[in-house]
Amino acid sequence: MSAAPSLYLETYGCQMNVADSELIAGVLRGRGYRSTGDPQQADVILLNTCAIREHAEDKVANRVRQLISIRRSDKPVRIGLAGCMAQHHRDHLLDTIPGLDFIVGPDGYRRLPDLLEADQPAAAVQLDRGETYQGLSPVRGEGLRAWLTIMRGCDRFCTFCVVPFVRGRERSLPAGVLIEELRDIAAQGYKEVILLGQTVNAYRHDGVDFGELLRMACQVDGIERIRYTSPHPADFTDSTISAMAECAKLAPYIHLPLQSGSDPILEAMLRGHTVADFRALVERLRSAIPGLALSTDIIVGYPGETEEDFEATSSLMEEIGFDHAFMFKYSAREGTRSFKTPETLSEPDKVRRLERLIAEQQARTLRIHQSLIGSVVEVLVEGAARRQEHWLAGKDPQYRTVCFEPAGAEPGDLARVLIEAVTSHTLSGRQIAGV
Ligand code: SF4
Repeated sequence: MSAAPSLYLETYGCQMNVADSELIAGVLRGRGYRSTGDPQQADVILLNTCAIREHAEDKVANRVRQLISIRRSDKPVRIGLAGCMAQHHRDHLLDTIPGLDFIVGPDGYRRLPDLLEADQPAAAVQLDRGETYQGLSPVRGEGLRAWLTIMRGCDRFCTFCVVPFVRGRERSLPAGVLIEELRDIAAQGYKEVILLGQTVNAYRHDGVDFGELLRMACQVDGIERIRYTSPHPADFTDSTISAMAECAKLAPYIHLPLQSGSDPILEAMLRGHTVADFRALVERLRSAIPGLALSTDIIVGYPGETEEDFEATSSLMEEIGFDHAFMFKYSAREGTRSFKTPETLSEPDKVRRLERLIAEQQARTLRIHQSLIGSVVEVLVEGAARRQEHWLAGKDPQYRTVCFEPAGAEPGDLARVLIEAVTSHTLSGRQIAGV
């Protein structure tokens, strides 16, 4: 009997791609494939890619060329690209990367088995408004945290963003199907779930909105914590905020993309809200949700961004007091609305602005962490700490990494930890008794 064919899969980009890779592994498992961590042993090599920045695409192009160059010649090995980059460059990838066998976009994963059987370069890059991958069983990763995609696509078309073009339009899964999936996730032993969508709080299906879905999710036994990412500031409703305020399982942490702290830039980006709207939302969220932590995304050097716009971003970040931020230089993406808008900032100036925001955010995060010394946080214990022998590590409700000296806690437990020291990345301390 011949051995089962094997799949080597590398994932780049966001958590949605992690969840999509689990779906891809599920599609291929249904055809008898098992996973391998060694590309030299694999029958199929697949890179699940990101198109959000040029740098991410360059990295994947180099990696796939390298894998093609070391492809074994003693057996047929199919090498492909999946996900956003495959969709973004669908018209020329197979021509520009010799040896690439197939490309598959975010709505084409059900067609993977056909692509693998093709005897010439093949593509599945049709966007499909109806594709939600309902009925597929993902192969979930190890650990306590599971990802569940509740909606796909985006209708907002922010000028800088390639997502609506590579992931298509918004579509949500039925609430009943999602709750069944959550029960299954709990039965597999996961304790925490992150609900995913490009504009996750735009979720709506058959009259169930995001707030109602959150409340339903909290009824599933076995799941201790529920998070979600990424919401859009303009899609927050009273229904969602009251669910966050009332349901203990909903972790008090929101990733709230700001992108810029200047109204002219927000308007140019077509973000759909002003600085005042954002401030008002933060105020509503903070007054409803005690202990809320906020993180954000910021782009520096969007075309037309003046020194004044940049200063406005810097001071709004300080005023809001974000716990954490993901900051990037503007990267013009082909096909987006801002692609043809001439850039107005030199590369050194972009770097200077970015480095300043990063330094300011690091200092801010450290300050916030220092204010936690002496407090007690509840940690969902994930496993051994990386740097300290015999210590454990996990996340607190605000998604901060906490390392601690245990006093009986084990992975999977909720432990109370007294915070005694901090860096801008980690809190550390010791487990204390009580619940
Ligand atoms: S809301 Fe804007 S930034 Fe977010 S995925 Fe949609 S288009 Fe991109």
